[in-house]
Amino acid sequence: MKVYKVHKIKIHPTIKQQQLLTKHFGSCRWVYNYFLQYKTDQYKKTKKSASWLEMNKSLTELKKQPDKQWLNEVSRVALNCALENLDSAFNNFFRKTAKYPNFKNKYAKQSYKLTNQAFNIEKDGIKIAKIGYLKCNLELPNDYKLLSVTISKTTTNKYYASISYETEIPNPKSDKTKPVIGIDFGLKTFITTSEGEKINHPLPFKDSIKRLQKQQRRLSKRIKGSKRRLLQKHRVAILHERVANIRRDFLHKLSSRLVSENQAIYLEDLSLKGMQNRWGKKLNDLGWGIFTNQLSYKGPWRGCLVEKRDRFFPSSKLCSVCGWVNNSLTLEVREWDCPRCFTHHDRDVNASRNIRDYGPVTRKQRTGRVEVLDSLVELSRHE
Ligand SMILES: [Zn+2]
Repeated sequence: MKVYKVHKIKIHPTIKQQQLLTKHFGSCRWVYNYFLQYKTDQYKKTKKSASWLEMNKSLTELKKQPDKQWLNEVSRVALNCALENLDSAFNNFFRKTAKYPNFKNKYAKQSYKLTNQAFNIEKDGIKIAKIGYLKCNLELPNDYKLLSVTISKTTTNKYYASISYETEIPNPKSDKTKPVIGIDFGLKTFITTSEGEKINHPLPFKDSIKRLQKQQRRLSKRIKGSKRRLLQKHRVAILHERVANIRRDFLHKLSSRLVSENQAIYLEDLSLKGMQNRWGKKLNDLGWGIFTNQLSYKGPWRGCLVEKRDRFFPSSKLCSVCGWVNNSLTLEVREWDCPRCFTHHDRDVNASRNIRDYGPVTRKQRTGRVEVLDSLVELSRHE
């Protein structure tokens, strides 16, 4: 089967190359911001959004202007990709999967993208248009088709290349002897599975988060424009990076293990609004979105079905054994006994079992219970 993969590697550009990269970051950011403003203005006036073709024509005109000659010093492909990125940001906004695009900030992480006509893989490295050869440790399969590369520079001054490519992997076989599981997300425990496994963020992650919060508080007290503030900003950026790295590593290992151990995984379809309704406070991203995404794309590689469940039924309050609804269950109660079938429940394990059992796979096997669930879904929709 055909799969898309991304390989992210550290690169070490020379001083000269760093200057050229800075030029590319700057020009792409400028093009992105210029056309974001252009599209916003035009939309206000005409209620129509400029198409990619219109923007492309306008960019060609811009490049002819005497005061915009610097646009010709960078890769043409890079500028076109910046336009494409803007276009897809707008498409996501119109599809209601993202907020209105923001202007790119020169103090944040910098990046630009190139499609496969502007770079190539060479022995132990990568050759990029206008930048030249960059040595790096490549781990690509024998047979692949290059799609694009994104060059980035972190706020801690590290450079990376993310190469995305298409490759062929053997068709995975679905193993019917492996378990079908449900996963419940929580604030106290990161995930709880219907097998009773509770998995939390690793300790170093929690420690780093605490340290990060402390340093951020310190940063807010520093006077704007002062040297101490700049130093503090750098400290915060390093901690941010550490937190992100630990989390990425943790989530990747966990998602890879779960898709290889199970034949099907059912998850709640979490929206930020849903989370806020459920926990009644403002939540930052706890990594559920990234994790769900990882499971969804890794599942097919290992023949594991990954599906999101509608979360309109009260999965915590429902007894996963007999269907009794415990309406007196509050958020603080972690364990409870079902008065009808006398099962002792761990709150999260019970919820994950309901997530596992609600849906098409078990629909046929448990017709009786599904009816109960369906009526509950109906009920809670009208609440
Ligand atoms: Zn029961």
